[in-house]
Amino acid sequence: MADIAKKLEAMKTLAGQTQMSEQYRALYQAMEAVMTEIAQQLSENERAFDEYAQIVEDMDAFLADLTSGDEDESEFEEGFDADEDEDEAEALLEFECPQCGYRIVYDVQSLAADAEPRCPKCAAPLFDDGLDA
Ligand SMILES: [Zn+2]
Repeated sequence: MADIAKKLEAMKTLAGQTQMSEQYRALYQAMEAVMTEIAQQLSENERAFDEYAQIVEDMDAFLADLTSGDEDESEFEEGFDADEDEDEAEALLEFECPQCGYRIVYDVQSLAADAEPRCPKCAAPLFDDGLDA
């Protein structure tokens, strides 16, 4: 921005040293007024942008603080499950098979309906109480 202000000043200096007809000078002055206005507007925008950038940065830090504490509870996952139809976002539970380590994502409802959930890969029961597997 300082660059544009400098160029504007150089242009004014040059114009002051230039022979111009009355008509041409009027045209030049109109153009100079517009350019000055544009330059002012730009530097206002730049200030506003800097302000917003600062706000976004603050919010980013705030959100990072907010979410960093939750990361231990990663058993609970909300969001998109590729195997599901386009249901609304449901609460998803993620398990690791105790047998083979396969990661299984259940939504809470189908887990509740399934009395003895088993690993889809090795068929091991997911919970230890099913020892008779
Ligand atoms: Zn398994």
